[in-house]
Amino acid sequence: RLSISPLRKINKTINTYAQSKNKEIEALQKNAAFRREFIADISHELKTPIFAAQGYIHTLLDGAVEDKSVRLKFLKRAAKSLNALDKLVQDLLTLNQMESGVIKFHFETFDLKEVIHEVIEELEHKAERRDMLIRFYYDKEKTYRTLADKDKIFRVCQNLISNAIKYNNDGGEVEVHLKSHKNHITVEVKDNGKGIPPEDLKRIFERFYRVEKSRSREKGGTGLGLAIVKHILEGHKSKISVSSTLGKGSIFSFELPVEKGGTRKGS
Ligand code: ADP
Repeated sequence: RLSISPLRKINKTINTYAQSKNKEIEALQKNAAFRREFIADISHELKTPIFAAQGYIHTLLDGAVEDKSVRLKFLKRAAKSLNALDKLVQDLLTLNQMESGVIKFHFETFDLKEVIHEVIEELEHKAERRDMLIRFYYDKEKTYRTLADKDKIFRVCQNLISNAIKYNNDGGEVEVHLKSHKNHITVEVKDNGKGIPPEDLKRIFERFYRVEKSRSREKGGTGLGLAIVKHILEGHKSKISVSSTLGKGSIFSFELPVEKGGTRKGS
């Protein structure tokens, strides 16, 4: 006959085991729910451009193709929807690879000012079309050398500056500020657009979260840009910050470390 004490011990072991298994099951259920929700979100997002393209093509097939002016207009709209679909799939792949850790970071030394110049050059025509100017502020006497993944930081700046244009009013202002401190460099992207409501501010970094779905889609947004930005910065042990005032505009900023040594390449 076993005495009480070893029985208690066995009981305790069984309880601990059951608790840990319960936790595992809970985690698995959470994971499964997360995946279901993700797939539902993706399906919904994919359907929008597919339905739009299908609509234009079917209307053309039903006879609109005979009318030359309608033909061109509808073909252009179908092409625009397919481009949006392509961008969405590409962003999804990037996000998925980042979340599963497949994407590797390649760190090298470079000057942040040059990367930002390149991004501005690429986006300038978009700003001009809406009567906007992108102003870039930095100290010409200084270098802004950092050790980071150059292509990915390019993408971060591209997303932030492109949002500052997209969600701004025509004729609005976009400012990029580079500030160097003893150990880090701050990049700040500022716009004087409509701003983001406080209740949405925390959620804009979630995949597919948009303050105004229709405005984002109309501007070619996928709702994944800021989720990608967040992941890239996490890969640099950095994070994105935002402050926004409704009706006045928003400021997005992040930091990268100052690189003091010589040119280095590596991963
Ligand atoms: P999207 O592809 O929709 O632009 P993002 O992930 O880049 O997706 O941004 C998510 C949402 O955050 C946008 O849909 C928009 O509502 C809001 N947002 C992002 N940047 C700004 C900004 N500079 N001003 C106002 N709203 C913004």
